[in-house]
Amino acid sequence: MRIRFLGTGSSAGTPQIGCDCAVCRSADRRNQRSRASILVEEQDTRILIDTGPDLRMQMLRADVRHLDAVFYTHFHADHINGIDDLRAFNFLDKRVISCFADARTARELEERFRYCFLPPDPGWAKPSLSMTGITAKQQVGTITVLPVPVLHGNLPIYGYRFGGAAYLTDLKTIPEESYALLQDLDLLILDCLREEEHPTHVNLAESLALAVRIGARQTLLTHMTHDLDYQKLCSVLPENIAPAYDGLEWRI
Ligand SMILES: [Zn+2]
Ligand SMILES: [Zn+2]
Ligand SMILES: [Zn+2]
Repeated sequence: MRIRFLGTGSSAGTPQIGCDCAVCRSADRRNQRSRASILVEEQDTRILIDTGPDLRMQMLRADVRHLDAVFYTHFHADHINGIDDLRAFNFLDKRVISCFADARTARELEERFRYCFLPPDPGWAKPSLSMTGITAKQQVGTITVLPVPVLHGNLPIYGYRFGGAAYLTDLKTIPEESYALLQDLDLLILDCLREEEHPTHVNLAESLALAVRIGARQTLLTHMTHDLDYQKLCSVLPENIAPAYDGLEWRI
C-alpha cells in the first residue's frame, strides 16, 4: 500500500496570506503546506481522503487520473471546499464518484453542495457524486477502510484506518474505545497543529503524547500551521516521529 501526502497544512495553508514569518518565507519546500489530504493506493484501487480547497493543484502535482472513492473526515471548509474539482474524475472515469462520511458530514455535504448529488449530468458539467453515511468498515477494491471515531473539540468526526496505516487529522481527544482500533500500526498520520494549545486540535506536546500511547512503528505529523518549521521540528522529534510534507510518499 502506498500513502501519498497531497497536503499537510492547516486551514490557512502555509505560507499564510499576508504573513512574512520565517516559515512562510522559507525556501524549504517542505514548509509549503497545502490543505490536509492524502491518497491511499493499493494495486489498482485509489482512495482520496477529503477534498480541500487545494484539490486541483494537488491532483495535478500527483498526476492522479482515476479515483475509486472519496472518504470525508468531517465537513470543515478546509476539508471539503475543493469538491467541485471532483468533476474532472467524473469526466475521466465516466461514472458517478462514490463518497463516504459519517451521517452528519454526509448531511452537511448534501445540503451545501446539493447540485453535486442530483442525477448525473450527461456531459459531466457538474460533479456527480453519491453519498453513503457510514458507521462501519467499507470495502473499496482491495482496500478495507475502517472509521475511527475521534473528537475534534466537541465535534465527533472520523479518522480512518487502512490495513496497517491510520489517518487521524483534526482532533483534540481520542475516545478510549478507539484505541482498540489503533493497535499494531505500521504508520500513524496524526494532527499536530502548532506549539500553542488550541481548543479543537492537539498541539505538538499533545500530539507526541498520543503518538507515544498509540505506539505505531512510524508516526508522521500533519495539519501543521506556519508555527512549525520542518527542519526545527525534525531536530526535536524522536526517531520514529517526523513531520510529513506535501509530496511525501510512504509505502507500508
Ligand atoms: Zn482541518
Ligand atoms: Zn507565517
Ligand atoms: Zn476541522
